[in-house]
Amino acid sequence: GQESKTHVALLVSPGMGHLIPFLELANRLVLHHNLQATLFVVGTGSSSAESTLLQKPSLVNIVSLPHSLSSLDPNAPICDIIISMMTASFPFLRSSIAAVNPRPAALIVDLFGTPALSIAHELGMLGLVFMTTNAWYLSVSYLYPSFEKSMVDAHVYNHDPLVIPGCTPVRFEDTIEVFELNQEEVYVGFGRYARELGTADGILSNTWQDLEPTTLKALSEAGTLGYGKVNEVPIYPIGPLTRNGEPTLESEVLKWLDRQPDESVIYVSFGSGGTLCEEQITELAWGLELSQQRFVWVIRPPEGTESTGAFFTAGRGSSRDYWASKYLPEGFIKRTKEVGLVIPMWGPQAEILSHRSVRGFVTHCGWNSSLESIVNGVAMVTWPLYAEQKMNAALLTEEMGVAVRLRAEGQGVVERKEIEKKVRMIMEGKEGEGIRERVKELKISGGKAVTKGGSSYNSLARVASECDIFRRRRDGGY
Ligand code: UDP
Repeated sequence: GQESKTHVALLVSPGMGHLIPFLELANRLVLHHNLQATLFVVGTGSSSAESTLLQKPSLVNIVSLPHSLSSLDPNAPICDIIISMMTASFPFLRSSIAAVNPRPAALIVDLFGTPALSIAHELGMLGLVFMTTNAWYLSVSYLYPSFEKSMVDAHVYNHDPLVIPGCTPVRFEDTIEVFELNQEEVYVGFGRYARELGTADGILSNTWQDLEPTTLKALSEAGTLGYGKVNEVPIYPIGPLTRNGEPTLESEVLKWLDRQPDESVIYVSFGSGGTLCEEQITELAWGLELSQQRFVWVIRPPEGTESTGAFFTAGRGSSRDYWASKYLPEGFIKRTKEVGLVIPMWGPQAEILSHRSVRGFVTHCGWNSSLESIVNGVAMVTWPLYAEQKMNAALLTEEMGVAVRLRAEGQGVVERKEIEKKVRMIMEGKEGEGIRERVKELKISGGKAVTKGGSSYNSLARVASECDIFRRRRDGGY
């Protein structure tokens, strides 16, 4: 009889920044590697972008797990909300998977799903983690259990660099949010997650060999570099894994871009959850206007007095006029009518970045956005807000040379002059030339990695074959 395909289950935590790459991963496993895939989604159910994505016809079997958003405190930190939602979903996940016969060969989770690795193991499956980030951030979390407490304390309390043998140290000014909080409790949580990561049968990272050769080498040699307390988990660089724009999508912004000259537009967006405070929105508007560049700006309501992230209020849609009257400098929309477009809440980013008229991207440096920019050869201005985004900004500017960094003054507000200067640099300046060339080189390098025979393609093929082999051993042949 015909062999049935090896089946893998994937579990994705709330947030478009997780859902988009997971759906892409599941698609590639089905399309290129002959697997069958079920994606369990812990959705927010509150964003229309999310439901649009989930309702598209798909090669992947999609199962929404019940969520408990309504019973959570909307003012709690994003991480806590995600963790509670994930914890509430585990019993449903377990019983859903237990009911599948034959049992999937593997469960692939994201950084918020690591407690489910033990569920995978109990149910006789491989437990894999897909880190939708780069290898440098992965090195911080994966190697964390081997760090001396005194070194971490020196980082957190004295602001010394975090030294990761074999990798670039993390300066305190670029550190991840957890280490900025100074809370022992957060430390404990991060330590637990890092230890769970070490129980995986494999870790997939959204990077590629030629992008981060040194860090990937250090990760693969962790066992021999004296990281006594770290298990040796195979690391699979499988990126750049990004969603392709849909060539047939119709939208106002794409029509607008069609009317602009080649490589003349700067795109401004802060991911699925980034928000700026009111004062910062005003400065950004002035900066864009002063730069005299064409622009597309995805704008969100301000949250409090700081520029940060707020995923679950991101559904509050409103019209452009409302925005203009409430937060933008007087007359801004009118004065920039010929050169700029403001889109409230959400834009078709993959399509925008692949448009021929877009040359630059002011980004919050979420790793999906960063990769989407690179695969389209679009140079960046970095404006990190939360999570590991400052590390990403350092990587993009200093190691990869594909971006310039915005610097905030005093109270953390980035001033209009600074915005004007960096936007000009990326869009027209001589100084930006090298950056624009470098990002086009990386685009080619990333393209090669994911094409048949490329390093990341082969790496994902190895993941698929590990799943096949495991299944054959477990189920005794087909
Ligand atoms: N995105 C989009 N339109 C928007 C904002 C975001 O399509 O207006 C997509 C973007 O293309 C990316 C994802 O949402 O794939 C955001 O992921 P990222 O890692 O950049 O940031 P996060 O939202 O997780 O902070």
